[in-house]
Amino acid sequence: MKIGKELYSGKAKSVYETDEHDQLVLKFRDDTSAFDGEKMEKLTRKGEVNNRFNAFIMTQLEKVGIPTHFESLHSDTESIVKRLDMIPVECVVRNISAGSLCRRLGVTEGLDLTPPTFEFFLKNDSLHDPMINEYHILSFSWASEAEIEKMKALTFKANKVLKKLFADAGLLLVDYKLEFGRFNGDVILGDEFTPDGCRLWDATTREKFDKDRFRQGLGGVVEAYEEVAKRLGISI
Ligand code: C5P
Repeated sequence: MKIGKELYSGKAKSVYETDEHDQLVLKFRDDTSAFDGEKMEKLTRKGEVNNRFNAFIMTQLEKVGIPTHFESLHSDTESIVKRLDMIPVECVVRNISAGSLCRRLGVTEGLDLTPPTFEFFLKNDSLHDPMINEYHILSFSWASEAEIEKMKALTFKANKVLKKLFADAGLLLVDYKLEFGRFNGDVILGDEFTPDGCRLWDATTREKFDKDRFRQGLGGVVEAYEEVAKRLGISI
């Protein structure tokens, strides 16, 4: 496979064309950002850890019938993925209160949310990814009603599987963000699932093993990601 020109470069990943029209290369970089790019650092090995982490999770999700863009690992830091027409919204499920939910609603961190709650955000850096609802998505034609239902159903289906997967590794899946895109008329999971885009706490001590370590300056960011990978049996 030949890698072509860079199509897109985000804060932590880059996307390249390949000689296959329907396939792209997704490169996980060591760059780490928080607060809309206000805090940026390169963390050695993070790209490699996240590439393998994402491949493992996407494979688990495929196994239970959640279609994803992941095709195969290409190198230590790159994966081959399907070319999607991305839907510009983020789907967030929260099992435990944390992050922006606490700031917005004035609730304390660590409350069990039963049932888990769901939020949509618009992917727009300059507007700081504002929270939106289904009517905004329909009124601005970001997605159809059927696509909204599909995104919600797949995000909740992933929650069931991933909560158990992490629980078996002694971890609480606090919350996570998923992004979807269109492929041959279907809605399938795109982007990534790594500790950059979810919150994971030790089930006993509630120690943080995710990007909050970077956001909150706790240190040991990549070491924490590697610990999660180890507990899940991912070889890096
Ligand atoms: O910041 P907030 O609490 O809304 O984030 C909820 C979840 O979504 C967290 O796991 C966070 O890492 C993830 N997220 C993300 N990318 C964003 C916004 C949130 O991965 N742009």
